[in-house]
Amino acid sequence: MPTAVETGAEVLLPTSEDEAVAAFGDGAGVTVLAGGTIVVPEMTYGYLKPQRVLMLAQAGLDGIARDGSRTTIGAMTSVADLTDLPSPLGLCAANVADLEIRAQATVGGNLCAPQGRDAPRGDLQSAFLALDAQVRSVGAGGERTDPVETFLADRAGRLILDVSFEEPAAGAFARLDRPHTHDYSALTVCAARTADGTVRVAVAGVEGPAVRLPSAEAKADDPAAAGAAAVSDATFADDALASAWYRERTLPVLVRRVLTQLQEAA
Ligand SMILES: Cc1cc2nc3c(=O)[nH]c(=O)nc-3n(C[C@H](O)[C@H](O)[C@H](O)COP(=O)(O)OP(=O)(O)OC[C@H]3O[C@@H](n4cnc5c(N)ncnc54)[C@H](O)[C@@H]3O)c2cc1C
Repeated sequence: MPTAVETGAEVLLPTSEDEAVAAFGDGAGVTVLAGGTIVVPEMTYGYLKPQRVLMLAQAGLDGIARDGSRTTIGAMTSVADLTDLPSPLGLCAANVADLEIRAQATVGGNLCAPQGRDAPRGDLQSAFLALDAQVRSVGAGGERTDPVETFLADRAGRLILDVSFEEPAAGAFARLDRPHTHDYSALTVCAARTADGTVRVAVAGVEGPAVRLPSAEAKADDPAAAGAAAVSDATFADDALASAWYRERTLPVLVRRVLTQLQEAA
């Protein structure tokens, strides 16, 4: 399985999930390469100098499986392959970057995307948070399945295998974008309602990984009040797309929109 590339890095090319798990081990010194839309530019510009690269392209970790109301998505499934799924995930995926990037970018890479220098990444995290998704991963201590919230808080040294969730009764998506960039969203808000009426709301594009908005969830019946409450649940940062100030003022609007969409879907 190991080969060498010009950089001198050892390249591991597993051809099954078991081989990928064995090659990853406890993750020490291993750089995972999925779609490469983040990792490859980082290597090209010299920000990342990996010793061992685990290329997942042939590991068979892609695909979308349905078992009753439960959907399981392999880590190597492309963002493009998600776009026909129900909201919020399908719409959220359709608004990631452009056609070329979506065809290359993967679910695992989006969930593990490090903070970007100029623009936020990890839009799908907000959809998976709203869906109360479970992440199956391996690393030190073996395999475990965590709520996506837990995973995002402690994802270093883990290899994602798949993500699963129950289909929601209704979902909603809204974002803050810039008309001519055709790629990054400055803020992405997703919401989902389960059959028992539980509403979950989450935002990406804030400082660090995406977060849930429990204060907004608690006022979900009143979209305007929920929007106002949401800002206390997030920390905002400046980047090339928008200032923290602008994000803080826009979040209530996006939260109000998604909750209104959920009400209209009732
Ligand atoms: C022009 C452009 C526009 C973009 N627009 C957006 C956008 O609108 N929204 C957005 O969210 N992102 C955007 N991105 C960022 C990126 O394309 C996406 O976040 C994408 O989903 C990353 O997936 P990937 O497979 O390419 O990740 P990679 O580059 O392969 O990996 C990204 C990170 O995840 C880790 N990783 C990958 N797979 C796994 C796994 N299975 N287990 C553990 N770790 C793993 C890698 O080690 C690395 O740290 C954009 C990028 C570009 C270049």
